[in-house]
Amino acid sequence: MLDNLRDAVRKFLTGSSSYDKAVEDFIKELQKSLISADVNVKLVFSLTNKIKERLKNEKPPTYIERREWFIKIVYDELSNLFGGDKEPKVIPDKIPYVIMLVGVQGTGKTTTAGKLAYFYKKKGFKVGLVGADVYRPAALEQLQQLGQQIGVPVYGEPGEKDAVGIAKRGVEKFLREKMEIIIVDTAGRHGYGEEAALLEEMKNIYEAIKPDEVTLVIDASIGQKAYDLASKFNQASKIGTIIITKMDGTAKGGGALSAVAATGATIKFIGTGEKIDELEVFNPRRFVARILG
Ligand code: GDP
Repeated sequence: MLDNLRDAVRKFLTGSSSYDKAVEDFIKELQKSLISADVNVKLVFSLTNKIKERLKNEKPPTYIERREWFIKIVYDELSNLFGGDKEPKVIPDKIPYVIMLVGVQGTGKTTTAGKLAYFYKKKGFKVGLVGADVYRPAALEQLQQLGQQIGVPVYGEPGEKDAVGIAKRGVEKFLREKMEIIIVDTAGRHGYGEEAALLEEMKNIYEAIKPDEVTLVIDASIGQKAYDLASKFNQASKIGTIIITKMDGTAKGGGALSAVAATGATIKFIGTGEKIDELEVFNPRRFVARILG
């Protein structure tokens, strides 16, 4: 995703065309690249207008080369597009800490539960996983395999259909066992476009286990459509954070990311592959630094 931006930066910094022409070419390349990453066209033009405005109104400090100064402006504005200066808080401020994962089926929720458990285990926390996705029969088995792989206990009740009951009993058991972080994987039988039903179900489990954080898992391949889901979720849950999965596998990742950032929701992690360690803390500035090379 957005891979060609790195080349554009290199070309801009080392090219032989005049500064004005190089700026113009770079801005065109930036627009093309963002639009092909499915970033909303209005957002793209507002971004490039802001860049042009700053070029007009700000003077490059003499001690920095003009071309580098321009790239810094691009960097700032792209960071704003993807959420600004937000540094997500990933280390819980209290123990025990219960995280409930919600999301549409197939987004990578169960995989992400395993990735999160691994992330926190590596940081030295005692972690427990609760499998309360009762709609997808293989979900519990998948979670158990992940748990085994990373050495994290998994609570599940094979065959039981009462997701609220499982979540409650699982959390209570892990609290008794003095687990520090408990991650609850919930059911995601809904399709995209059924946000209301998803959020309604979320409420029932929420009431039963009173988690410290509710995390919505969104698949990057839905691109700009992530906006609706994220904004409804952001309104419904004051303790809500977002994880965007499959940032590796789709051209639409930029669309999903910028759309979610536009809702003001906190994007906490991004999933960048199928493997257990392919989860990154999301930081807009670091993300931009990476795509600009
Ligand atoms: P769930 O129905 O939401 O629990 O989805 P799963 O966890 O079963 O994941 C669905 C598919 O997405 C699986 O094949 C996962 O390996 C894959 N997946 C999950 N996260 C990522 C990711 O960040 N990148 C890629 N490429 N695939 C992912």
